[in-house]
Amino acid sequence: MSFSQLGLSPELLRALEDAGYQTPSPIQSKAIPACLEGRDVLAAAQTGTGKTAGFTLPILERLSREPQGHKRPVRALILTPTRELAAQIGESVEKYGVHLKPRLKSDVVYGGVKVNPQIARLRDGVDILVACPGRLLDLVNQKAVRLDQVETLVLDEADRMLDMGFIHDIKKILRLVPKQRQNLLFSATFSKEIRELANTLLDNPVSIEVAPRNTAAESVDQSIYMVEKPQRMALLTHLITHHQWSQALVFTATKHMANRVTQHLQKAGITAAAIHGNKSQNARTAALSGFKSGEVQVMVATDVAARGIDISELPNVVNFELPKTPADYVHRIGRTGRAGASGQAVSLVMPDERGQLKQIEKLIGRAIPVATAEGFDFTRAVPETPDEREQRPGGGQRRQGSGQARNNNGGGARNGGGAGRGGAGNRTRSGGGSTSGDEQARPARRRRRSSPRSSGNSGSGNR
Ligand code: AMP
Repeated sequence: MSFSQLGLSPELLRALEDAGYQTPSPIQSKAIPACLEGRDVLAAAQTGTGKTAGFTLPILERLSREPQGHKRPVRALILTPTRELAAQIGESVEKYGVHLKPRLKSDVVYGGVKVNPQIARLRDGVDILVACPGRLLDLVNQKAVRLDQVETLVLDEADRMLDMGFIHDIKKILRLVPKQRQNLLFSATFSKEIRELANTLLDNPVSIEVAPRNTAAESVDQSIYMVEKPQRMALLTHLITHHQWSQALVFTATKHMANRVTQHLQKAGITAAAIHGNKSQNARTAALSGFKSGEVQVMVATDVAARGIDISELPNVVNFELPKTPADYVHRIGRTGRAGASGQAVSLVMPDERGQLKQIEKLIGRAIPVATAEGFDFTRAVPETPDEREQRPGGGQRRQGSGQARNNNGGGARNGGGAGRGGAGNRTRSGGGSTSGDEQARPARRRRRSSPRSSGNSGSGNR
């Protein structure tokens, strides 16, 4: 399928050509025609799938087909959880709409910056408004904007908006928009709350699931290091310097840890910047643009701050700490390996994070290979339980690291049968992967986890 088959105007097609897009992504081929028909859409999609163009293109198309009054009331409202995501969607709207004549006007509003300039801009009217819910309500209360002419409402990253406690704001906004409207809901995950919201919001929606929500995982080379807490800083520095990573996005669980990691990296001579909610908007914007321009080698971020950050061809993502929810893991690693580019996601897993790891592997449907690095002792972080020793093929002899990759095919096949229990699965990184130098496939003791994979695949230690 090509973009020209989707029913978009030549002006939009030209903008896509300018952007270098050759073919629509799966979500675009499905969402664009449905949106153009005026249907409600429920889409399971995360950042990296091309979802933004999936809703901005048909919005631009529909609005440009209809004559605009000189008052320019908001006709399309796009709600997003974070400032960064709002800014990126705003950029996309501008980019794709650049050749439209007459131009549609768009604007982006979010909190954390002065409200008066936003009020002044809105006074002249705007066709497409991208907004974070809280600031939008402020602006409505200050009578800077009205929402009673909204024709299309988009809830982007709806799961994240609910996670961030925006549900009440969203409900208020729903009371301000006309009853008759088109609704597009995008969410990476579908909790009970999201389903409830979708049920109240959407009218006979076209459901789109571009791929199982965790397939971002497919294009990303993932590995884990079983570490003890004190090893983490040194290992992170080692990974960055030894592999000469051009750029990496490092996730931490807390703002405090983001600062600590940043300081540690800076001391090691690595250009690093932290991005999290305690930073001013200006500091966040500066960090992000420094990272985008390549001046900043490592950006250290919390989940919330990193939402929606779109950096093309980001090669490395590091989970310095595992995320709270398995869905966040998928979100995080979705920052890399985009649009066919190869990406690498490395997680440092402490013994007390093994439960979280198990959840993640359950969600992505496979075990993540274990890696080791020369000069680091990983054995203490994974104490072998008597139970594991019992189950290990070879009669309970503790295996010493020999530098040889061990394929546990046999163990998996013998013990598999779909039950997800098996021998002591020593998983190793794929030899042909992006790891190089001292980072060879090595045996690493690790308990086999329950995994929904079929037993036929489950034992392939060397992938
Ligand atoms: P999104 O999922 O909307 O955040 O988009 C992810 C990235 O893919 C953005 O950098 C887009 O510019 C890019 N992109 C979106 N659609 C396409 C396409 N059809 N071909 C190539 N790149 C695309």
